[in-house]
Amino acid sequence: MRLAVVDDELCNSKICGIPCVTFCPVNRIGTKTVWIAENGKSRINEQTCIGCGICVHKCPFGAISIINVADYWGKKLVHRYGENGFALYGLPEVKRGFVTGIIGRNGAGKSTSLKILAGELQPNLGGNGGSLLDLFKGSELRQYFSDLGSGKLKISVKPQILTLEEDDPYMQKTVNEVISSYNDERLRSLTKEFALDLLGERRLGQLSGGELQLLTLAIALSKDADVYLIDEPSSYLDVFQRMEAAKKIRETVGRGKSGVVIEHDLIVLDYLSDYVSVVYGSPGVFGMASRSYGTRNGINNFLRGFLPDENTRLREGAIDFFDVGMGKEEVGRVIFSWEKLRKRLGDFELTSDGGEAKEGSVTALLGRNGIGKTTLVKMLAGIVEPDEGAVPTAGLRVSYKPQMLRPVDMLVSDVMEAVKDSLAKDYYKTEVFEPLGIDKLWNRNAKSLSGGELQKVAVALCLGRDAEVYLLDEPSAFLDVEERLRVGKAIRRVMAIRRSTGFIVDHDLLLLTSTSDSMIVFEGESGKRGHARKPVKVLDGVNHFLKEVGITMRRDPETGRPRVNKEGSILDRQQKESGAYFMISVGAEVEGQS
Ligand code: SF4
Ligand code: SF4
Repeated sequence: MRLAVVDDELCNSKICGIPCVTFCPVNRIGTKTVWIAENGKSRINEQTCIGCGICVHKCPFGAISIINVADYWGKKLVHRYGENGFALYGLPEVKRGFVTGIIGRNGAGKSTSLKILAGELQPNLGGNGGSLLDLFKGSELRQYFSDLGSGKLKISVKPQILTLEEDDPYMQKTVNEVISSYNDERLRSLTKEFALDLLGERRLGQLSGGELQLLTLAIALSKDADVYLIDEPSSYLDVFQRMEAAKKIRETVGRGKSGVVIEHDLIVLDYLSDYVSVVYGSPGVFGMASRSYGTRNGINNFLRGFLPDENTRLREGAIDFFDVGMGKEEVGRVIFSWEKLRKRLGDFELTSDGGEAKEGSVTALLGRNGIGKTTLVKMLAGIVEPDEGAVPTAGLRVSYKPQMLRPVDMLVSDVMEAVKDSLAKDYYKTEVFEPLGIDKLWNRNAKSLSGGELQKVAVALCLGRDAEVYLLDEPSAFLDVEERLRVGKAIRRVMAIRRSTGFIVDHDLLLLTSTSDSMIVFEGESGKRGHARKPVKVLDGVNHFLKEVGITMRRDPETGRPRVNKEGSILDRQQKESGAYFMISVGAEVEGQS
């Protein structure tokens, strides 16, 4: 069976000369298989297509994907976005009393799955006829959709996209107005626990991404629902907030409810899930949901790149984290150093110990939101002047990727012109351009990119500039797990090859610990005062930080990835007593921890 998908945004039949139509061998023998539809886009008959792939190679814009799929997949088709559009096969299971975590690549249908489970999107079964109940005969989802259809299930959703248009009347309301409009005790208590009550008179339009995330999550969790569907709860949150949000999700679902959570931070996903379903496939082309695995096996299968029950390979090669936190012992000469710094911004004051940055090294900046990480980065970049102390980066070329990205109305190929010298270099192609998939975005308008795609272009631009110092503020935002790891590797490789020095501000501990050689940990009180400690080895930095958060982590023996210990477990107590908050040796995984 063939799946033929045409990306209408990339297809431009007015200028391509329509080689897909001309060269299709089935067209040439007189059977209409590829044609240009009235909307000017290519269309392909999947019944007559023989899957030769000629059109895929001939299309100058990479608009066509042809996938050979097993016949039985056809019986699992849940939704198709139009003729030759994205196809979603299967759905993650919903288990009563448990949280099912969903992991997978961006663009593989995770959010679409959630919309269908919420009843917000009526699946069309690809136009093949039949009903959802027949499709899921024999699985827990049959009862789920039966109850959903008869109105027996109450659903609460935390969407992925939080912001409305700035002039939307809802964004003009204050936090207090929103909270009181629900007149709900649980919401009051959740907002207090998330420290949102302190923001009372702030309008929603003035909230930071993290504050808005917590408010939206609190509203979703406060509802008296049977099923909680939560899309990317960690975005914009710091590590403290991520752990708090995860605890609240577990608490809520633990009361005999069901939860499905999409999450890209593997440590958080591991912490909050009872089961894990992997949504795999080809971004923008098709997605397939795996069965539910136990959390540890599900994540490890995903990292190994093989789903045993589906007998499906997700990628070539496994991902492991045995060198996490190790950094490089020997790094090169000092590129620049800074003295003790002080900066006051309104009511907030940041102080910083002195430090130095060496060539070929990556330094992570870790701390709460609103504690001055971006301010320190901007001082190091020479964008913000310190009130006291000096950062002698004068004469050094600095490349900076800001936290907030604003897409311009230009083709990605034109945007990347700014780094055309790097584009001509082999190392840039193999270490940055191809791993980040910029080639696939080349003909797209930057305004049409998703958050993750825009992030990859911004990172590629930052790493493409000729500089001695690279500063990347939240490079993991909107990226899936594999993309995060590729970004981390690209940063490391560019620093090593260019003999430059890099700084990363992020909240994804896995990205930071697998990418960095040293770490600056921030202490203080969000919005009031922050102090940046001097750079130390990654293990020492994370250890210090986790002590402040109050959690311990062990290492998974199969993949080396860090896992949060259950509070009060034997390992948790042992590690706290010994002061080793972050990771102990491989093999320490004990029964009952997974
Ligand atoms: S799919 Fe490619 S080759 Fe075919 S019409 Fe569109 S742009 Fe041209
Ligand atoms: S894969 Fe081959 S047979 Fe199918 S539409 Fe393309 S060129 Fe035609």
